[in-house]
Amino acid sequence: ASAPADAGELLRRRERSLAEVQEHYFADPPVIVRGWREYLVDADARVYLDALNNVSSIGHAHPRLVEAVAAQWRLINTNSRFHYPQIVEFAERLAATLPDGLDQVFLVNSGSEAVDLALRLAQAHTSRPDILAVAEAYHGWTYLSDAVSTSVADNPHALETRPAWVHTVEAPNPFRGRYRGSEAARYADDAVAEVHRLAEAGTPVGAFLAESIFGNAGGMPLPDGYLKAVYAAVRAGGGVAVADEVQVGYGRLGEWFWGFQQQDAVPDIVAVAKAMGAGHPLGAVITSKRIAASYRSQGYFFSSAGGSPVSSVVGLTVLDVIRDEGLQQNAAEVGAYLKQRLTELGERYPILGTVHGYGFYLGPEFVRDRESWTPATEETARICDRLRRLGVMIQPTGDHQNVLKFKPPMCFTRDSADEFIAALTRVLETGW
Ligand code: PMP
Repeated sequence: ASAPADAGELLRRRERSLAEVQEHYFADPPVIVRGWREYLVDADARVYLDALNNVSSIGHAHPRLVEAVAAQWRLINTNSRFHYPQIVEFAERLAATLPDGLDQVFLVNSGSEAVDLALRLAQAHTSRPDILAVAEAYHGWTYLSDAVSTSVADNPHALETRPAWVHTVEAPNPFRGRYRGSEAARYADDAVAEVHRLAEAGTPVGAFLAESIFGNAGGMPLPDGYLKAVYAAVRAGGGVAVADEVQVGYGRLGEWFWGFQQQDAVPDIVAVAKAMGAGHPLGAVITSKRIAASYRSQGYFFSSAGGSPVSSVVGLTVLDVIRDEGLQQNAAEVGAYLKQRLTELGERYPILGTVHGYGFYLGPEFVRDRESWTPATEETARICDRLRRLGVMIQPTGDHQNVLKFKPPMCFTRDSADEFIAALTRVLETGW
């Protein structure tokens, strides 16, 4: 398609024809017409470093994925009721990445669907409606996944509008929450106490839902032992543990393929999407045979395009590319290098208060001063805008919008890390 001549006119048409959605547009967003590896190209042929795009997990326009998808489309794409090899192979490959016992795969089309289905499975299995979720998290837009999302960045009214069966524990943020540093272990004690309190109140927890690494807070690890302790309390009370791995799972963390491995804990139900489809609509729920069987009280599961032949080929090819190109290893190495360089930058510029995360899920956090840790919200927006002008695409995240959402395609090179640091250094040196 030919590139539109006028970016402003295209934006006005977009605003007229598309319903209002949450947007993180820059002041004058460029019209993006193509991508390649960790680069984006706009209609004026300007190239940007993409430090943001976790969905394009294996890199933009990956030739192997393009070929595989085209070949499958030429043969057949149809609904998942038919019998074909790709769906079987993909389910087997996916289950093989998970601990023993998590071997029943449901294929869906998005993260919201995956979280929704995971919670429905938990409710069906325990015959309990009550869900305990972590505050400040985002889990999706469908009825159930939205009900458990309390990130005020996504919905300023979230906390007042939850259904009565949704309960939250405090975000276990060891950096700016109630318990800091070595005190952070107490978040788990509070969460366990909440599990007990809910049982005594006659609303025992059916499902405990948490991201295994706190995505909305910029890839912040949970305190050591947190998931182990809360999972144990939930299970002891007859509930099940659900891990939302939509953002943090699938190799991005470098050292671990799944976020819950960082916590040395094993959930009962895993929800995943985003990276597994590299931009194609693909999500999955993986659980045990016992829990999967509980779905039958809800009827039969069916999703027309979930696990279609093309979706299954996408899923298989993404796993092949992650393996063959060593992308998880790359996330570990380049991510550690970049974290080190960002930390050094923080020693020179006090506004860069700390750097959260692992691998290619990093959250440099900006603060007005390091005594009060007051979030530097407006400054972060301006830093993102200046970085964009310098050719780096990145946006803010977190309930205070003061953390950079660094989660690039996993082919991001060491040279790109240097380029990112050079641009950020220039912004910090010259003001924002
Ligand atoms: N869970 C988490 C942790 C997410 O970040 C998101 C999307 N931002 C979702 C679920 C929902 O995924 P989707 O947008 O694919 O529906």
